[in-house]
Amino acid sequence: VIEVKHLHKAFGTNTVLDDINFTVQKGEKVALIGPSGGGKSTLLRCLIHLEGGYSGEVNFEGQPVNHASKETLQKLRQKMGFVFQQFNLFPHMTVLENITFAPKKLKIDDPKAIEAHAHQLLEEVGLANKANAYPQSLSGGQQQRVAIARALAMKPEVMLFDEPTSALDPEMVGEVLGVMKKLAADGMTMIIVTHEMAFARDVADQVLFMDQGKIADSGTATHIFKETTNPRTQEFLAKMM
Ligand code: ATP
Ligand code: MG
Repeated sequence: VIEVKHLHKAFGTNTVLDDINFTVQKGEKVALIGPSGGGKSTLLRCLIHLEGGYSGEVNFEGQPVNHASKETLQKLRQKMGFVFQQFNLFPHMTVLENITFAPKKLKIDDPKAIEAHAHQLLEEVGLANKANAYPQSLSGGQQQRVAIARALAMKPEVMLFDEPTSALDPEMVGEVLGVMKKLAADGMTMIIVTHEMAFARDVADQVLFMDQGKIADSGTATHIFKETTNPRTQEFLAKMM
């Protein structure tokens, strides 16, 4: 579904992504791990073209994301759900309104169907009774689960997560990872930047270790967590686990 070739990105003279190459198959779960400043967030942002000005290729379903027209880009973005560290829910809207806002605006379905889907998603993330609540009345873990439901309401083909649990109190991390695990088991294609190594080990088909703008090591979870002989990977994991 996603193909990245020779991706190179610099901010001024600071090279942030240096010859990044990987592909993501339909249904595959990819974990992006690595030290702070390694370029993980920038890479995710390039995938949905929130970040431009890079060289190389990013293809989504065979279509280049780079140089796409505005309409094509909007269509591509609809197929990619994005969940950030900060949940960014609209504070003046209820949970249900937060979830239905974009699908209604973009008319991806008729309003009744959008609302029915939203209720179903709330059920799936364990918040069926919070449809009419406002974000500030929810815990961080609940808000993040709403943010996941909101992304899913667009019926994306790929879900991108950038450290979805790192702003949460420890006791809430599990509930969000639980929702993500269920999504993974349902067959969603996922790219996940995470510092939760146990989660990456359990869920990822492919793990990319990013260090100083390069994919310094990559492979199956077994390769990265058990077999790798790369000293940088080993050093990083020793710090994380
Ligand atoms: P973290 O684990 O801390 O989130 P990261 O791997 O996501 O780190 P990035 O946020 O992608 O790392 O940042 C990679 C590099 O790019 C850093 O050196 C950062 O300072 C730089 N950078 C990121 N965004 C910008 C920007 N808008 N302008 C200039 N430099 C930037
Ligand atoms: Mg980041």
